[in-house]
Amino acid sequence: TKSVKMLRPVKKSSKLDNVCYDIRGPVMARAKQMEDEGQRIIKLNIGNPAPFGFEAPEEIVQDVILNLPNASGYSDSKGLFSARKAIMHYTQSKGIAGVQIDDIIIGNGASELIVMAMQGLLNSGDEVLVPAPDYPLWTAAATLAGGVARHYICDESQNWMPDLDDIRAKITKHTRAIVIINPNNPTGALYTRELLMGVLAIAREHQLIIFADEIYDKVLYDGCEHISIASLADDVLCVTLNGLSKNYRACGYRAGWMAISGDKRHAQDYIEGLNMLASMRLCSNVPGQYAIQTALGGYQSIQDLVAPEGRLTRQRDLAWSLLTAIPGVTCVKPQAALYMFPKLDHKMYPIKDDQKFILDLLEEERVLLVQGTGFNWPYPDHFRVVILPYEDELREAMTRIARFLERYRKQ
Ligand code: PLP
Repeated sequence: TKSVKMLRPVKKSSKLDNVCYDIRGPVMARAKQMEDEGQRIIKLNIGNPAPFGFEAPEEIVQDVILNLPNASGYSDSKGLFSARKAIMHYTQSKGIAGVQIDDIIIGNGASELIVMAMQGLLNSGDEVLVPAPDYPLWTAAATLAGGVARHYICDESQNWMPDLDDIRAKITKHTRAIVIINPNNPTGALYTRELLMGVLAIAREHQLIIFADEIYDKVLYDGCEHISIASLADDVLCVTLNGLSKNYRACGYRAGWMAISGDKRHAQDYIEGLNMLASMRLCSNVPGQYAIQTALGGYQSIQDLVAPEGRLTRQRDLAWSLLTAIPGVTCVKPQAALYMFPKLDHKMYPIKDDQKFILDLLEEERVLLVQGTGFNWPYPDHFRVVILPYEDELREAMTRIARFLERYRKQ
C-alpha cells in the first residue's frame, strides 16, 4: 500500500484577510454557473460597455492596429512620451495647473494605479478616507496595502454629495488622504464646485493628499460640466486618475493614468515611491498606450451618447423611470456615469442580508445586480444597476425586478 502523504494546505496570504471585492464575487460566480447550464441572464452588474454594443471609436482601434508593430518592446516605465504629452494637455484643458510630463504615470487601467497609489503611501494602520458607497477597489487597495479605509458617508438626501461634517469627524492622527470619486460610481453623482472647495479646505487644514478618481469625467448628462478638484487649488497635493475605459469605451485596452499636481515639494519621497512601483512592473500594456493620444485628441463620440436623445441618456431615463415606478423604490437620478443606486424602503422590504436578496433575484428572475454592501454601503437597503443594456433589455430587466419585489412584499 502506498503511504498517503498529508499535503500542507495552500492558504492565501493573511494580507487578503479583510480584502473584499464583491462586484466579481460569489453572486457573479453563481451567475456564471447558471449561464454554463444554458440559462440566459440579464446582467446589470458590471460597467463593461463592449458586450452591450458600445464600440470604442474606430480611429482609436485603427491607431492601435497601426502601431502594433511598434508596440512589442517595453516603453518608458511611466509610459510613452506621446501619450503622456497628450495627457498633460488634457490636464491643462481641465484647468489643472503645473502638471509636467514626469508627473504623469500610465498604468494598466486606473485600477493598477489605484493599487500602486495605496501601496506606495500607506504604512500599517495609516488611514484613508473613502466614500460610502464607494467603488470598492479603493477600499480593497487601501486594505491590501496594510492601511485602513475609513468610510465617510455620501448623503442621499443631498444628491449623494459627500458629507463634509462626516469627513471631518473621521479624521484622526493616522489619516493620510481623502479619496473622492467624481463623477461617482455607484451613485451617478456629479460634485459641485462648493463641495469640492469644502473637500479642499479639509485637505489643506489636515495636510491630506487628495486622490480624485475621475474616470467618468466625460459621461455627463443634461449638459452638466465636470470640475476637476485639482483645478481648484494649486497648493494641495492631488493625484487625479483617469483613463480610456469609460469615456472611450475601451476598458479592454487597459489604459489609465494618474497626474500629480499641487505643491509637490514636500512629496518627493512619495513620488519616488510611485516611480519605483512603476519601474517594478516595467511598463503598462504598450498597444493600449498607443490609443491614448488619438483618443484624447480625436472626435469625442461620447458626446453623441450623452446628448439629449443619445443612447446613454435614453437608457438612463428609461431605467430611472421604470425603477422609481416600483412601490418602495426611490432613486436619485444620476447626472453622470453608468449607474444608479436605488434605495428600497425598509418597511416594505425588510432585507437583512442584501447579498442573499440579490442571489434570490438571480435565481428567481435571472437578473444580476450588485448589492449595496458590495460598495461598502453600511445598510442592506440599496443595490446598483448598470444602465448599459439596450432599452428592450432594460425594460425586461425592470419588469423582472418589479415582479420579484412584488413577491417579496407579499411574503
Ligand atoms: N474607478 C472607478 C470609479 C471605476 O468605476 C472603475 C471601473 O469600473 C475604475 C476606476 C477602473 O477603471 P480601469 O478600467 O481604468 O482600471
